[in-house]
Amino acid sequence: MSAPRSRIFEPLPTTVFTVISALAQAEGAINLGQGFPDEDGPEEIRAHAARALLGQSNQYPPMRGVSSLREAVAGANRRFYGLTVDPAQEVLVTSGATEAIADCFFGLLNPGDEVILFEPVYDSYGPMIALAGGHAVPIRLEPPDFSLPREALARAFGPRTKLIVINSPMNPCGKVFGDEELGFIAKLCVEHDAYALCDEVYEHLVFDGRRHRPLMSFPGMAARTARIGSAGKTFALTGWKVGYVTAAAPLLETIAKAHQFVTFTTPPALQEAVAFGLGFPESYFEGLSVRLQAKRDRLSSGLREIGFEVLPCAGTYFVTAGYGRLALGEAAEALCKRLTREAKVAAIPLDAFYTDGLGRPYLRFCFCKREDLLDEALRRLGGCLARDRK
Ligand code: PMP
Ligand code: GLN
Repeated sequence: MSAPRSRIFEPLPTTVFTVISALAQAEGAINLGQGFPDEDGPEEIRAHAARALLGQSNQYPPMRGVSSLREAVAGANRRFYGLTVDPAQEVLVTSGATEAIADCFFGLLNPGDEVILFEPVYDSYGPMIALAGGHAVPIRLEPPDFSLPREALARAFGPRTKLIVINSPMNPCGKVFGDEELGFIAKLCVEHDAYALCDEVYEHLVFDGRRHRPLMSFPGMAARTARIGSAGKTFALTGWKVGYVTAAAPLLETIAKAHQFVTFTTPPALQEAVAFGLGFPESYFEGLSVRLQAKRDRLSSGLREIGFEVLPCAGTYFVTAGYGRLALGEAAEALCKRLTREAKVAAIPLDAFYTDGLGRPYLRFCFCKREDLLDEALRRLGGCLARDRK
């Protein structure tokens, strides 16, 4: 007897993050594949959660999120970006950005609606769009510079375009969309009466003195943007799964309707702790990006020494490294698996984030790891690739 299967999920493999993490574990490899820090975020936040868990109610909190967190999210929007947000009407707490993404597609799309998205693309968007009956329209940004193909983008907008998804800073390629690019996108949204879903989970992981600027702050965009953040990234607590959506009241209302049937609520103690964390002084947020930037530089220079072509990375947890010059003659996925087995270092093929399977010779390495681990990974990779050349 065969089990019933959804036509959306049936053809999809287990995610590349899970496959590579499982292989890394089986091989005892250093996992620079899946994006998660190997050191937990601030102890004060975890202690706050522990106190809330023992001292406060553990029953269903309000559907849109506890008021302290909704106020903290509104406060962070004001403090970091000058956005005025009503915590009662314009903020929704979700079980991670992953749920927020699903809620936005379920709440905003009808069958036949088109959604423009940029490849390399985060893997949860496509299946959730399909489940909502939408049609994904991919625009490909290509290495080495991942620049915006403006003409192709303008051509992709049409009468059926309901949404565009912008993930900036962008996983996997570390691109941070510039003001001019965002202005161009904002203009297209206004002209075509389209909405924007902004996955800004890496908003505080931006390097080299740059600052994140939400598309929501551009002219005409406040009423047509849903902006998603994640405590997982902002506080290095990826297992917590606390996310938040900021959107104008009419947009948020329909997104919240999807949320009420997807998870309904998110653990209240974790919400209280994240509210506390969002009130941290500027030094926390600066320290976070400064420390990560140093890790980016450490891994990037080591990869360059081994012979990889390391592309610029303006934000996120990830660097992209080209291996064309190493002349390994291997497809990226096979190389990732071999490096996991032989070098005991795991990475993710960049091609996993494209739907065309062209075979781009690039790997994504995650650098939010302890320095000694990054050094050991580099030593292992260097040794393995040197043996290859003999
Ligand atoms: N969007 C992007 C681009 C991500 O990299 C991640 C990381 N998993 C998520 C969304 C999901 O975030 P969360 O863990 O809060 O669900
Ligand atoms: N966002 C993380 C990454 O890109 C992992 C997400 C996941 O495992 N689903 O590696």
